Amino acid sequence: MAIKLHDSLTREARELHPSQPDGVFRFYNCGPTVYAAAHIGNFRTFVVNDLLRRLLELEFGQNKVHHVRNLTDVDDKTIRRSREEGRPLAEVTRQWTEKFHADCAALNCLPPHDEPRAADPRFIREQVNMIEVLMEKGNAYRAADGSVYFKVASYPDYGALSRVKERELQVGATLKSQAADADEKEDVSDFALWKAHKPEDGDVKWPGPDGAAEGRPGWHIECSAMSKALLGPTIDLHTGGVDLLFPHHENEIAQSQCCNGTTFARHWYHSEHLLVDGKKMSKSLGNLYTLDDLKAKGFTPAALRYALLCGHPRKQLNFTLDSLHAAESALKTLRAFKAQLTPAGTADPFGPVFASLQDDLNTPGALGALFTIINRGATDSSPAAFERVLFALGLDLTEPVVAKTEIPAEITALAEKRWAAKQAKDFAGADALRKELTAAGWSMLDRKDGYEVKKVASSG
Ligand code: AMP
Ligand code: ZN
Repeated sequence: MAIKLHDSLTREARELHPSQPDGVFRFYNCGPTVYAAAHIGNFRTFVVNDLLRRLLELEFGQNKVHHVRNLTDVDDKTIRRSREEGRPLAEVTRQWTEKFHADCAALNCLPPHDEPRAADPRFIREQVNMIEVLMEKGNAYRAADGSVYFKVASYPDYGALSRVKERELQVGATLKSQAADADEKEDVSDFALWKAHKPEDGDVKWPGPDGAAEGRPGWHIECSAMSKALLGPTIDLHTGGVDLLFPHHENEIAQSQCCNGTTFARHWYHSEHLLVDGKKMSKSLGNLYTLDDLKAKGFTPAALRYALLCGHPRKQLNFTLDSLHAAESALKTLRAFKAQLTPAGTADPFGPVFASLQDDLNTPGALGALFTIINRGATDSSPAAFERVLFALGLDLTEPVVAKTEIPAEITALAEKRWAAKQAKDFAGADALRKELTAAGWSMLDRKDGYEVKKVASSG
């Protein structure tokens, strides 16, 4: 059975197939901007893409998937961070790239086959080349300050992905007179391919395209140039979070199709955002979590991965700490099931799990099917069949290390018991358990949707 996936361009579910004679499926996934630790919303997107990668490997073969995910290591945010910290840009982005890799590994995400960086001299060259072609073809122009802009009016299909054209044109008409001059561009909807160097960019600069000033690439061009360099002019699938649909992906299509004269991506997929307590995650609301924040509360990366898989990738998912408690307990059930399987088992009852995953990544359906099978018994399943399910979902069932080393198991058990008592409104029981925790030197802080356990600092 083929994988069917919603296509944001045609707005229907379509089967995924490789298009080139070599049978290799070409998969490009927009990666992180490396100026801080990625938050769990970013990781929702990367976990969904990892699920896709795994299903593609199962479908076409491990060596028949070419997965590219870029690193945005030069843009306004990375440059600002390097300036604020007084450290070279490359040092800052290397630090956060390493952190990103460590978090991805903890979340059991397979590394992409290629991870190009926008500031890599090889790819600066590719970006400059592409901009020069666009200028030659009349799709781009040099502004007075030496920046280069893409001329949106030169590409009549602009807006096909986001259906943004009409809205933009209206906005464009009103803003044109005010904004166009100030921005040095001919039209407000034009976007930067190359940004002329400004004093606040410090020493971040490269020689520009022919006739342009020294400076740095605009953000959108990196994905067009790097995907072409590594995967060729036409790719089979391009993905990212829903916020990238416009303008980033719309601009990528315009650049690539004008430069290469052929279809850029045969399939577009956008996964939805993660919300926290029903709101957009933000530092000012105090609801922005990184993986480290959750580990400090005693949760495992596996639990986060599981919790992120519980929501349908094309629906917003509301994250709560309670969902991590539920995830830890689901993982426990899966571990117990796995322990019951013996080499004598030959059954493979997991077809419905894969059917759900192949049906537009219906992860809640797949997990529902999995637990229905497990609750039925199914102890005659073959270990290999179960491993295949675990591979597809990327679930690592080795015993959690974080919770064990940082918070002793008996303390976690007491805390879980007390939380359950409180949820059941057994307040006397909950109080008694809190006393036990205090006596053992631990404090428990209740929140709306979960709790935090902390070692009480000893005064001796
Ligand atoms: P960035 O590092 O900002 O370029 O984002 C990396 C990826 O995370 C992109 O694919 C974004 O679409 C995605 N993303 C950003 N915020 C969220 C969120 N709250 N939920 C899910 N994905 C997100
Ligand atoms: Zn991109």
